[in-house]
Amino acid sequence: PDWSLPQMLAESVRKHPDAEAMSFYGQKTTYKQLADAVSLFASRLQQAGIQKGDRVAIMLPNSPHFVISYYGILTAGAVVTQVNPMLVERELAHILQDSGAKAIVALDAVYPRVKAVESESDVSTVVVVSLQPSGVSFAPDVTFEEFLEQGKTVPVTPVSVDPAEDLAILQYTGGTTGRSKGAMLTHRNLLANVIQSYEFFKDEFRPGQDRCLTVIPLFHVFGMTSCMNLTLYTGSSLVLLPRFDIKEVLETIQREKPTTFPGVPTMYVALTNYPGVESYGVNSIRTCNSGSAPMPVELLREFERKTGAKILEGYGLSEASPTTHCNPPFTERKPGSVGVGFPSTEYKIVDTETGEHEMPVGELGELVVRGPQVMKGYWNMPEETAKTLRDGWLYTGDIAKMDEDGYLYIMDRKKDLIIASGYNVYPREIEEVIYEHPAVKEAAVVGVADPYRGETVKAFIVLKDGASCTEEEMSAYCKANMAPYKVPKLIEFRTELPKTNVGKVLRRTLRETEAEAAA
Ligand code: ATP
Repeated sequence: PDWSLPQMLAESVRKHPDAEAMSFYGQKTTYKQLADAVSLFASRLQQAGIQKGDRVAIMLPNSPHFVISYYGILTAGAVVTQVNPMLVERELAHILQDSGAKAIVALDAVYPRVKAVESESDVSTVVVVSLQPSGVSFAPDVTFEEFLEQGKTVPVTPVSVDPAEDLAILQYTGGTTGRSKGAMLTHRNLLANVIQSYEFFKDEFRPGQDRCLTVIPLFHVFGMTSCMNLTLYTGSSLVLLPRFDIKEVLETIQREKPTTFPGVPTMYVALTNYPGVESYGVNSIRTCNSGSAPMPVELLREFERKTGAKILEGYGLSEASPTTHCNPPFTERKPGSVGVGFPSTEYKIVDTETGEHEMPVGELGELVVRGPQVMKGYWNMPEETAKTLRDGWLYTGDIAKMDEDGYLYIMDRKKDLIIASGYNVYPREIEEVIYEHPAVKEAAVVGVADPYRGETVKAFIVLKDGASCTEEEMSAYCKANMAPYKVPKLIEFRTELPKTNVGKVLRRTLRETEAEAAA
């Protein structure tokens, strides 16, 4: 269907008005209640002068306020600008200026940051959300509750949206590899990805029955599409949590009995290693859709053994709304692979250097994809857009290979490739081997400068609680399990690894601290 996202939600409200749309610490909201709040929010935004195409930022953790704001902004015809609440003033100022946002919905804890940069931006409305039962404890511009109340005075003015052309979201990329860029996603991009996901996950999102544990952030494209929009499209329910706190996650699972749990590998690591995880009723979860970062095969097996849930790994990126590939629930799953292409998604592996010639089956190259979920371009960055989108093909910057059945294997990002003594070394391959060592909890491998080899391989390792392993033992283990040029010459044990706040290991930070230490 050629719907805007608000039309998609309206359809679910029509079909399932009294079904639960979301649950937040036990507080339930039905589809009808959600739709009413969305209308009030949209109306009040219009009263504040927000017009079609204006950008409105959301800087919130997962909560009903997020969902209401998101659909409220879209209903007013405006463009949601996603802002991670962890951003510091400088980063926030960049996004507000770059997007030209006129309003922002922000958590009380980040209000001082918003006020500090407000004068450098076009923001004139700041709506403040508090997740504390006592509410906002200072005099804000306007609280979320006041904003909704004021929306009651005038009904919302309908705005017509062209789903193919009009932007729904500016999705700033994670910044794992460099400066954050705003991917322009249209209503059609996002709805297409919801419907493509539904083709794979129909049985996991049954209306009025299934519940999606939503702890990956909604301000990130994975949570936005694979949790929020997919759930609301299907008439099932979101179990929202504002942060990943392992005890809270387990207690929520016990209380709310979610049936799916989309997540990132580091979350599954934490659950797998939690003592007595089996006793929390984790078996209510049937499927886990893992994405955003590679899922080590050994870990996948251990997680499934302990919880009884099945992990289906997929792949995507902000620029593709996000998902392009996934292991299908209905046919063979291949651990280590990110599965097959979503419906209506074309993909090929091309020569990494030229970006042109298609590589034979089994050979590595850059993954390029084309489909209805691929973004319109980067906001205000025509040159980056021209480099990344060529002939409708999205150049992902990821090195991958395909097998004879069309299953895709993501090797690494182009930027993470290590070139040691002229050999291409893929960090992922080494990490997989290290993960198979019984003492290892987490591992990250990067290239560090080396006067003889150009780069040399360094491994950062976190051991499981109570486990022990020396550098010599780890080195001997690596030598026995990989070619000499791949063996990490340097090994460092750490208590934790630096991560983005969606839980991706920041190899870039590890590389930078190494470079600084060497200088
Ligand atoms: P930036 O582009 O700003 O550096 P980012 O790459 O983290 O940030 P996202 O769009 O959030 O931005 O992440 C997309 C990237 O995540 C992909 O390009 C890919 O490198 C990685 N990725 C996603 N899923 C997987 C997976 N299953 N296995 C390996 N890598 C994955």
